[in-house]
Amino acid sequence: MGVAKPEHRIHPEVSQFLAKPRKLLIGGQWVEAASGKTFPVFDPATGEVLTHVAEGDKEDIDRAVRAARRAFESGPWRRMTPSERGRLIWKLADLIEEHLEEFAELETLDTGKPITAARAADVPLAIDLFRYMAGWATKIEGNTIPLSVPYTPGAEYFAYTVREPVGVVGQIIPWNFPLLLAAWKLGPALATGCTSVLKPAEQTPLTALRLGELILEVGFPEGVVNIVPGYGETAGAALAAHPGVDKVAFTGSTEVGKLIVQAAAGNLKKVSLELGGKSPNVVFKDADLDVAIQGAANAIFFNTGQVCCAGSRLYVERAIFDRVVEGVAEHAKKLKVGPGLDPSTEMGPLVSEEQLNRVCGYLASGFAEGAKAVVGGNRWGDKGYFIEPTILVDTRPNMKIVQEEIFGPVVTAMSFEEMDELIPAANDTIYGLAAAVWTRDLSKAHRVAAQLRAGTVWINCYNIFDAALPFGGYKQSGWGREMGHDVLELYTEVKAVCARL
Ligand code: ADP
Repeated sequence: MGVAKPEHRIHPEVSQFLAKPRKLLIGGQWVEAASGKTFPVFDPATGEVLTHVAEGDKEDIDRAVRAARRAFESGPWRRMTPSERGRLIWKLADLIEEHLEEFAELETLDTGKPITAARAADVPLAIDLFRYMAGWATKIEGNTIPLSVPYTPGAEYFAYTVREPVGVVGQIIPWNFPLLLAAWKLGPALATGCTSVLKPAEQTPLTALRLGELILEVGFPEGVVNIVPGYGETAGAALAAHPGVDKVAFTGSTEVGKLIVQAAAGNLKKVSLELGGKSPNVVFKDADLDVAIQGAANAIFFNTGQVCCAGSRLYVERAIFDRVVEGVAEHAKKLKVGPGLDPSTEMGPLVSEEQLNRVCGYLASGFAEGAKAVVGGNRWGDKGYFIEPTILVDTRPNMKIVQEEIFGPVVTAMSFEEMDELIPAANDTIYGLAAAVWTRDLSKAHRVAAQLRAGTVWINCYNIFDAALPFGGYKQSGWGREMGHDVLELYTEVKAVCARL
């Protein structure tokens, strides 16, 4: 593996951005944390410090919530027409597009992901999301409703509903797709006329902060978007519990999702959650195997497996089990592991040392319980947070590696014979985020899709995302849906207006 020389590739804008400590965006101003503290942001490919960022905490969250409240109650945002709102969101998308390469580099440096993926997926998907939501700003409508009130015979009414913004929203996002998930959160908040306090993950605050600069450049009124990086237990917890927040939208682990629900109980703020997964990926013997093998590998190795909907449980029909496992193993062996800035890299490092330790811990537990690695199973290289792409066999359904979300490039491969055996096994999880089926038999594909308890089912494809396609989980994978028109429900209140004529 050739070692990339990141310093030769970095855009001058990116170097400038990293050259000085970044601040918090509150009420339209870049400000220091009230405590004056900053925290380091690391490059996962080297473990070196990229820059420092102001460390938001309770007091900063409180200031940001007050700025968002003012912007919601009395600022120009409230008086803007939906069309004006839509145009600002569209302009934001255009500006991100102008800076696409810069965003891709910054995202790669911060998360470790391959620059090719950041350039082709993360940034374009964020741009698309903002454009899609810009279109919705003018299409948030209510209904007129004919009434038949039984206890006022003869009376006539005119009744209608309007959808109003839910208010100040607290948005907490993780580190695996930082810019894209900032877009998933901010897009619908802005389209519906809400104001936001966004807390990026402490591991990866950079692209959200750069986005904040573009938000100011576009001319969103001050306080409409506030960005407060900080740690989860401090800034995140303060945002989830804040009585001035009307709704909290969270993407992250199921464990923290439960803490968010508890914190939100104080003022019964609305809650939406996009949480973990342990998604079944099912290959039938009548599938186009070349496509299915490639798809199964992509399902688990994309983004170093740090994807909430990763296809981490591979179920293969017994007759083709060995062939599929060998095929995915071949793919894993050829996968070019390396630093994200190297344009030939196909799989980057894990995001942090903590994540590396967590994945290694799961591997150790799997081996201790008798699982075997067909390929991989170890740390890769001697610096940075790299891990080998790994396929585990000889597992049992009750093993931790089969039940729990590993969030790394580790798939457990299992065989099945009958549909009666497959469906209960695939659904035997506390999660229900995604699933996939590979077969040439259309009717079987749809029958299986109907029986899988998951918010997304892919047929003969995997990891297909679109701003128009709702995404979210059954069971402990979450509450509510992001993207599509479904997300607008999470950011609006329905008001019923009833007039006696
Ligand atoms: P992971 O375990 O994959 O890092 P988390 O669920 O811990 O994912 O983190 C997702 C986001 O939630 C991050 O922005 C993190 O700072 C935040 N977070 C972590 N703990 C809490 C908490 N107790 N309250 C609110 N936010 C939190």
